[in-house]
Amino acid sequence: MIKEILKELDIKHVKLVAVSKTKPIAQILELYQVGQRVFGENKVQELVEKAELMPKDIEWHMIGHLQKNKVKFIAPFVSLIHSVDSFELIAEIDKYAAKNNRIIDCLLQFYIAQEDTKFGLSLQEGQELLNSKQFTQLENIRIVGVMGMATFTDNKTQVKAEFNQLKHIFDEIKSTYFKNEDCFIEISMGMSDDYKIAVEAGSTMVRIGSLLFGKRF
Ligand SMILES: *Cc1c(COP(=O)(O)O)cnc(C)c1O
Repeated sequence: MIKEILKELDIKHVKLVAVSKTKPIAQILELYQVGQRVFGENKVQELVEKAELMPKDIEWHMIGHLQKNKVKFIAPFVSLIHSVDSFELIAEIDKYAAKNNRIIDCLLQFYIAQEDTKFGLSLQEGQELLNSKQFTQLENIRIVGVMGMATFTDNKTQVKAEFNQLKHIFDEIKSTYFKNEDCFIEISMGMSDDYKIAVEAGSTMVRIGSLLFGKRF
């Protein structure tokens, strides 16, 4: 299964984040052993525990909503935070990145779904964040792209429109704020049920869990 997915993504130069939340170490190791090195978790405590137990050459991504008071636990090692949705959060990430002598890569999470439950910025809020003087003074974070989640629905037309919207947001922000910066390249969108649609819409990074590890209960 993973080999087929990897091959399919590889042809399109899309990165795979294997979402291992709720899954035991033994199962994650199986994927590690066939070469997967990028794993994503959505809870800080679980992320920290797994990072301690698993081989050290793994890139750990924080993909879930992140509370400010928990940033310090992942700041020493996290490779990419997908879920930045406020200035206060990114300022906290910057602070703990500095304490750990690191620069932490982040994605701005945008709200593209027709649901009340999903976190994220509007395009306008993202622009306000990027325009603010306080933001430009942060030295230990690097914004490398955007992230979004589509509505949980079988309506493929709607999902496609939402992913297109995120691609549009990416293009808008790239051309305004990161035109000459080679590091702003990532569009993290697509999960088990909709990653093919996401890749078609321009995703550079998919976050796949249940398709690789089986259903979560
Ligand atoms: C759980 C989760 C995923 C993966 O979901 P699947 O449907 O199992 O592929 C992707 N992104 C986020 C933010 C998640 O919390």
